[in-house]
Amino acid sequence: MSNESIVYWASPIEVASLRNTSKNMVTNNLVKTRLILDKILDNISLGDKVAIKVHVGEAHNTHYLRHDYVREVIEAVKSKGGIPSLIETHGLGNNVENIGICEDYSICIGHRKNATEHREIAMLHGYLESIIGAPLKFIDGENGIERRVVKIDGLKFEEVSVAEGLYSYDKLVVISHFKGHPQAGFGGALKQLGIGCVTKHNKHLAHFESGLVVNTKRCDLSKCNQECISSCPVQAIKIDGDSALIDASLCYGCFQCTQKCPVKRAIKSPRMNNIGDFVERFIDNAFAVIKSFGPEMVRYINFALDIPLMCDCVPNPGMNVVPDLGIFGSSDPVAIDKACIDAEINAPGLPILKENGQWTEPLARGVEKFKATMSLTNPNLQFDAALKNKIGSTDYKLIQI
Ligand code: SF4
Ligand code: SF4
Repeated sequence: MSNESIVYWASPIEVASLRNTSKNMVTNNLVKTRLILDKILDNISLGDKVAIKVHVGEAHNTHYLRHDYVREVIEAVKSKGGIPSLIETHGLGNNVENIGICEDYSICIGHRKNATEHREIAMLHGYLESIIGAPLKFIDGENGIERRVVKIDGLKFEEVSVAEGLYSYDKLVVISHFKGHPQAGFGGALKQLGIGCVTKHNKHLAHFESGLVVNTKRCDLSKCNQECISSCPVQAIKIDGDSALIDASLCYGCFQCTQKCPVKRAIKSPRMNNIGDFVERFIDNAFAVIKSFGPEMVRYINFALDIPLMCDCVPNPGMNVVPDLGIFGSSDPVAIDKACIDAEINAPGLPILKENGQWTEPLARGVEKFKATMSLTNPNLQFDAALKNKIGSTDYKLIQI
């Protein structure tokens, strides 16, 4: 990959090359989406099966990417002769609503845990074939466990469980809604690859210190009927001596065993100690996806529109922290995310309404607003890890469309 990658950019205000033509048309972001796609979808050939990675949003979330934009991508792929399908993977957990981490901390794991509820959210948000023109496929199967184990020499992982269905396609277009994220610093193309294209196995290993483990001091065979074993869908648990033992290579973090075990905290999933590890782990995941699918097969489009602090996985992602920044396209996931972050830094901040009804002073240009407002980590961690894994380049040339 060359040192300087090309990133195409369409301003949300107007399209430079068309300034003297119809303003009504060129100020429409859907038209700009098509102009960006005309630049980046140069790798699609007649008859290619094209996977279009989306995030359909979470229940009660109103900041997810509108299906109108996704429809434009589908139409553009068809115009190139490709056969498009939307692809998605399921979220953490399986049949549980909350993951108890410790006495006073639990994670609500949302409503995208399996195909049934995930389809409902997709329908609610307009991701229906009859509306957008392509079917939605869950590439990790009905329950999020259909995987291909990819060997890598990563920063944290030596192998990654990539969603098996991805390999049914010839090309991949990754659509990302650029926004904040408390642990990742921001969400963009890299996170779509590293969380969005892997199965629950590696989603879990990215978010937690380790896979689920049995606390042998608490596990007590005299107090149970070995419910952990009977509840595990993948037979990852056996009795080893006086206690249960989980096979980490099989466990995909469904948390059913923790729900069924009658002994409190006999099974736990250790909370991540170092937030930076989360970033390096999901960047390793992204590395595995690109390495196994082929970097030349993938194109990226980031919609830096409606940009809140939090990700599309939560019910309430908060207020927008910067104005709309535009639409970006590239063949390099690092360069496109870097261009978005640079645009975010260079933009003026927006005032945020506090609980007491007062507005904050807008953050100045030059300030990285996600971190300054609430993020626990630095967005540069993603770039540092991506460069170490040689996923792409942070040097880019921005070409305005
Ligand atoms: S983990 Fe719970 S259910 Fe499983 S053997 Fe131990 S005490 Fe029994
Ligand atoms: S050990 Fe089995 S039941 Fe427990 S979280 Fe892992 S896959 Fe689920």
